[in-house]
Amino acid sequence: MNDQKAPSSVAPMKSTSHPPDLFQRLVEGVRDYAIFMLDPGGHIMSWNSGAQRIKGYAASEIIGQHFSKFYPQEAIDRKWPQYELEMAVKQGQFEDEGWRVRKDGTQFWANVVITPMIGDDGTLLGYSKVTRDLTDRREHEERLRQSEERFRLLLEGVRDYAIMMLDTDGRVTSWNSGAQEMLGYEAAEVLGRSFDMFSTPEDRESGRPAEELRTATLNRRVEEQGWRVRKDGSRFWADVIVTALDDGHGHLRGFAKVTRDLSDQKRMESLQEQGRHLTEFLAMLAHELRNPLAPLRNALSVMTMSGEEMSPRIAWSHGVMDRQLAQLTRLVDDLLDVSRVTRGKLRLKTEPMDLNVGLARAIEAAKPLFEERRQHFEAAASPASLQINGDLTRITQVLVNLLNNAAKYTPEGGRIDVASIAEGDEAVVRVKDTGIGIAPQNMEHIFDLFAQGDRSLDRAAGGLGIGLTLARRVVDMHGGQITARSEGPGRGSEFEVRLPMIRGR
Ligand code: ADP
Repeated sequence: MNDQKAPSSVAPMKSTSHPPDLFQRLVEGVRDYAIFMLDPGGHIMSWNSGAQRIKGYAASEIIGQHFSKFYPQEAIDRKWPQYELEMAVKQGQFEDEGWRVRKDGTQFWANVVITPMIGDDGTLLGYSKVTRDLTDRREHEERLRQSEERFRLLLEGVRDYAIMMLDTDGRVTSWNSGAQEMLGYEAAEVLGRSFDMFSTPEDRESGRPAEELRTATLNRRVEEQGWRVRKDGSRFWADVIVTALDDGHGHLRGFAKVTRDLSDQKRMESLQEQGRHLTEFLAMLAHELRNPLAPLRNALSVMTMSGEEMSPRIAWSHGVMDRQLAQLTRLVDDLLDVSRVTRGKLRLKTEPMDLNVGLARAIEAAKPLFEERRQHFEAAASPASLQINGDLTRITQVLVNLLNNAAKYTPEGGRIDVASIAEGDEAVVRVKDTGIGIAPQNMEHIFDLFAQGDRSLDRAAGGLGIGLTLARRVVDMHGGQITARSEGPGRGSEFEVRLPMIRGR
């Protein structure tokens, strides 16, 4: 304990007006700082409760020992403790941060201040040493650093968005790889420059960029869409969000700006727009084309009704016109239907009906084609009626389509089988042919609009690639399904229509 009294004779401490033992008690009571004295050789002379708490030694264990005990071996090896004392003398004080060792061997991050104590006669009496445990602060800082690092990497890695920070005047202070990709500038080319460099000259002229920052400051956030300019001068349609960043006390620190390139979306919208125009045009065209067809049909009928014998030449001409007019009417009707389908204007008039009736009508309509192509046709209708809620005209149209396709896509002399049957709650019609079949890669597309398996096919025989699209839509609207099967090219096809039957019959 003698050692502990020694410092009370030290000059700076003598200047206090407190009685020495009171002052000593004050120091001893401090718990958050290790405060102790070293003799000129670096041996410990006093110890307070903070030192005991931070370093783990009781005063009796440590007094008299050399203070290098608190240093990791590595620091001792490079004579750091001595260096600290020398520097303290040289500079009047020495401050350091570093790892120190507790009694139990664990380490802590310390802030150390060493002050030499000089006697009245100028001799070195020893040193005071104040050590603070900064482990918590260091961990906190480390966590902060890591989280900032993670955030930076995250921003850096985002490639689909240009993310930049702006200072309060709108100058770029950070720049991610997405920004580089989207706008074409390297970070070095933009840092420190005003963000209005990405705006169009017109926008700059009208003060729009500055307005953007004003609005963001007022409302915290502003989102807008507009043209932006890349380094190479090209423009793109962008969605821009600017968020004002404050320091937590309401003072503006800058802005975060996130830009998304909407070119693809814009292109898509314009394609959709074009598509809409096209379907509207198709609808109009179909109507206009239909108008002259009815008088033509009438005129042809008048020719046969007149009762006069037609000359072979006239009869031949009449036959050609009759067949071509039928084909033309069919195409125009298809076109009308497709515009109804694409515009969602297809309407059904459903009532209870027998699917077999629709099938019989379809066969009636398709039969001439089978005969013309000398195809062997067989029908096996279910003996029981197949009651469904359906639009007889549309259902017939679907089945005519399937039968016509079977005829079209089957060589002369081929075979076509159609059957209807009740399976559980469903009425099923299958149309099977021995024709050209469907390649697997075409299978998923044949129900698409304007899809045609073989475009080189003589289109006088083919249609517009509408039939199956329409068939699927009509069957869908009836709550049923239409599917196709084929073993592949040259191996025939089978189409199947399933429709829900009316229960309780
Ligand atoms: P279209 O017959 O007017 O071309 P569809 O929508 O009726 O249009 O048929 C689409 C395509 O599906 C056809 O072009 C054809 O390639 C294929 N397809 C339809 N039915 C058959 C069939 N029975 N056998 C082989 N291919 C078929």
